[in-house]
Amino acid sequence: MIKLKGKGVSTAIAIGKARVLGNSLPAIQKREISDTSAEISRYFDARALAISQLRDIHKRALREVGETSAQIFEIHQMMLEDEDYNESILSIIHDGVCAEWAVFSTCQSFSELLSSMEDGYMRARALDIKDISSRLISCLEGEKTGEDVAEKCIICAYDLSPSETVLLDKDKVLAFVTSQGSQSSHTAILARNMGIGAVVSVGEELLSSVRDGDILCVDGYTGEIIVNPDADSLLKMQTRKEENERQKELLRELKGKPSVTLDGTRVKLYANIGSPSHIGEAVFNDAEGIGLFRSEFLYLDSPEYPSEEAQFLAYKKVLEGMQGKRVIIRTLDIGADKQAPYFALPREENPALGLRAIRICLSRPEVFKTQLRALYRASAYGRLGIMFPMIVSVDEVIRIKELCTLVMAELETQGVPFSREVELGIMIETPASAIIADLLAPLVDFFSIGTNDLTQYTLACDRQNPSLDEFCDTHHEAIMRLIDRATRCAHENGAWVGICGELASDLSLTELFLRMGIDELSVSPSYILSLRDTVRKIDLRL
Ligand code: PEP
Ligand code: MG
Repeated sequence: MIKLKGKGVSTAIAIGKARVLGNSLPAIQKREISDTSAEISRYFDARALAISQLRDIHKRALREVGETSAQIFEIHQMMLEDEDYNESILSIIHDGVCAEWAVFSTCQSFSELLSSMEDGYMRARALDIKDISSRLISCLEGEKTGEDVAEKCIICAYDLSPSETVLLDKDKVLAFVTSQGSQSSHTAILARNMGIGAVVSVGEELLSSVRDGDILCVDGYTGEIIVNPDADSLLKMQTRKEENERQKELLRELKGKPSVTLDGTRVKLYANIGSPSHIGEAVFNDAEGIGLFRSEFLYLDSPEYPSEEAQFLAYKKVLEGMQGKRVIIRTLDIGADKQAPYFALPREENPALGLRAIRICLSRPEVFKTQLRALYRASAYGRLGIMFPMIVSVDEVIRIKELCTLVMAELETQGVPFSREVELGIMIETPASAIIADLLAPLVDFFSIGTNDLTQYTLACDRQNPSLDEFCDTHHEAIMRLIDRATRCAHENGAWVGICGELASDLSLTELFLRMGIDELSVSPSYILSLRDTVRKIDLRL
């Protein structure tokens, strides 16, 4: 039994088998062999199998995450055929040692050499060597490698980019555990949207301590992980899991009840989703609307720009699924950690401060217009609000509204139905937008405060960097003042205000937000009922 500790970022408890993605190397026994030519042909068979697995994964990745992200699986195929790598393995087998050991020790020496290099690119290749070697060893041992596991499992990885996360078969994932990652990384957000547990920032020991098939207990509340628990620890974790499920069951009694404080103040509790397939979770947890549909996941999930028709169908599905309740769809927020290869975005020194979100849309109006047309067409099927991310200026909002007017005029001329009641809103997620909220509010119907980016930009703390945690006080007075200011400016101009960043589900802030006058809180679906429970115990008269 091994105990590990990370940061719990999605509050659910999972017990299940580990599925280690890439770069973990199993411990290998050194076995002497007498028939070296039989061993060499065993090695070549395993290598052929590994290459054919990678070919299949590459095809799937091309379909699901596009060419640039898929490229790594082509590179892995080439690495498996690399002359130096193969020469080293074959010469060890010639010395009378089993193929598994030959791969293992070649991997050790190659990855040590690469890890010691100055060049960051070469250092990163050490992980690729571990990845291909562990695949080879699995093939030699006749084990199934991960992508095609049939049963539900707990995914363990060094890190998961949003595009790798979308590649996973979600129905088979019980929880995520990663060595890297932070509370507001999009992988953590996706886990919360999916209602499964996640622990990030476990450190390097994760991949040296966990092997495929190990039994794991993952506590997404405390960040505790137990590898191959003894009977006592397993029982304790099972009891905790059952207790947790009982509490969730109790909260379900709040379904259908109003989200209203003891003094009668109503607040709308909406859901954040990343895909039309999350609507079921939102409805199950009694979401009163959708406060944030991160539409960029449609783009991340696609090998090329999603067509107007494909987008229209996705947005229509969400609107119809919510049966007349308000649905706020955020336009494309790509860039920074969310990369879709076909955008061919230039490499940037500081991507979070670079060409992302609305900046891409305004500099590629044809991409933006396609999305706006799809959104307006879908508006005929429900109550739609469109929200624009990363706003810093009045000029941006004016340009956006001009484009919306143009799209509506075009649809009208073409006789395509759309609603004239679409609300337009902006995200307040940069300090600039909060500071000039008085100038922005008269231009829009609503603000939605994105506390994840607002925190990153106000405190100058990269949201992806877990080592900044001690400096990143999410309750910082500066952030509270910006939220308060944006709310007052919105109300003075007849606009409503929601919070859709992760702070919306921080129950220790709910009362403060209600006192500020926040009208709506939008959270991952599985957090809605505990938030309703908290709201119903607050008395703003006190
Ligand atoms: C935010 O920044 O708070 C937000 C909701 O947007 P995202 O997390 O997708 O950047
Ligand atoms: Mg944001």
